[in-house]
Amino acid sequence: MGVGDAHTPILPHSIDDMAASNFNFADPPALSEILKCTHCGLCLNQCPTYRVLGWEMDSPRGRIRLMRGVTEGLFEVTPTFAEHMDVCLACRACQTACPANLNFGQMVEAARAQALQTLPQKPLPRFFRWLVFKQLFPHPRRLIAAATLVKFYQRSGLQSLARKLRLIPPGLRESEALLPRLPDKFFTPTSTPLPCSNGGGAGGGGRVAFLAGCVMSTVYADTDAATVRVLARNGFDVAMPKHQTCCGALAIHAGERATAKEMAMRNIDAFLPPSPSPVGTGEGEGGKGDGNGGYAAILVNASGCGVAMKEYKDLLADDPEYANKAREFSDLVQDVTEFLAAHGIEKPTREIRARVTYQDPCHLAHGQGIRAQPRALLNQIPGLQLIEMRDADRCCGSAGIYNITHPDIAAEILDEKMTNIAATRPDIIVTANAGCLLQLQQGVRRAGLKAEVLHVMDLLDRAYR
Ligand code: SF4
Ligand code: SF4
Repeated sequence: MGVGDAHTPILPHSIDDMAASNFNFADPPALSEILKCTHCGLCLNQCPTYRVLGWEMDSPRGRIRLMRGVTEGLFEVTPTFAEHMDVCLACRACQTACPANLNFGQMVEAARAQALQTLPQKPLPRFFRWLVFKQLFPHPRRLIAAATLVKFYQRSGLQSLARKLRLIPPGLRESEALLPRLPDKFFTPTSTPLPCSNGGGAGGGGRVAFLAGCVMSTVYADTDAATVRVLARNGFDVAMPKHQTCCGALAIHAGERATAKEMAMRNIDAFLPPSPSPVGTGEGEGGKGDGNGGYAAILVNASGCGVAMKEYKDLLADDPEYANKAREFSDLVQDVTEFLAAHGIEKPTREIRARVTYQDPCHLAHGQGIRAQPRALLNQIPGLQLIEMRDADRCCGSAGIYNITHPDIAAEILDEKMTNIAATRPDIIVTANAGCLLQLQQGVRRAGLKAEVLHVMDLLDRAYR
């Protein structure tokens, strides 16, 4: 029976039938999670895709029902099944709403990986996946080289010419328009001198490690630099292990599980090296060797990366060599706003007289339960007026590369977000994730707003200068 047929049988409630599963590859959606769903429907109105499409199979409950049907052998993994999983934003708003405490994010990621391995891929998408997930993101130097090419395209006049002559293929126009002007300098662990703290500060000092990220270190390199300055200002020595790589979040979301596991292992080796090297080298090849790399925390300033890194322990739970190390790594990961709010910050002295509204990134609010901390940091800035928008924790439609793969749905979600933002009449829109920054910058352009779009760390850094 195919997915989406009008009359599907009543699902059995026993796990005895599960041997017939049509998920045929390793790491299927966890049966224990599937069985937690009581079909109560409390998640439906919180689900952006259900709100836009109004179709049960594009709700959390519907998607879980599909996963259960495949697990019980009632459905096959078909292109229709894959599409219902792909339309999900993986925003995890359903996790917040769900009284059964399901980890829906991990379930949908696992379902996508099953579909990817089960269904034949067309040559062009297969090539694109190979290029992006295997040849580009796991290799920081190649990523910098690609970003340098984009920077040349933007600054040499080629971009204006291509737009004027309408040379950009229709399928790429939306993605091309999304990309903001790249910064003059990228942020790389090997090339960026770290500011040194004086070991004091409100936070009490200490040694932390920082993941620079792929999009953050290129498109938002200035935000990475601002993050390190804010940490140093608050007394923390920041190490950036030079063999770190992209966290793998985009690969996990896209179902590229094997690639994501390789990236997770590389980061674990980079941040928690087996043989410790001396402390205070600036590049941070490890720490004191006290079992956690010598770091008080491994910090990240993009919430999508934060969730992925906090969940390395689940991704690698069955790996005999990495399971324990992954647990150790994940337990050290914190979002930079979570870390600074917990330690307390030095109060900035520079006034920023602005109306500011804060967009909760889904992976911070729903994925990590971090809502108060970014607001607490913003409220430390003198003169700043924080105005809450309606539904601040509802997805902006970015969701990794969703605004490229599903531009129409993403645009509809973004329009609702921009209406809520505009109602606060902001001078500055603040958020804490790379994808949200990109999407909101696009939203500001489309809505013709005059507001700046910044990361919490950008604004805090500005208030310290
Ligand atoms: S993750 Fe977001 S889009 Fe996907 S089912 Fe849950 S609420 Fe809906
Ligand atoms: S809220 Fe949770 S238990 Fe209820 S239908 Fe949604 S996923 Fe299932």
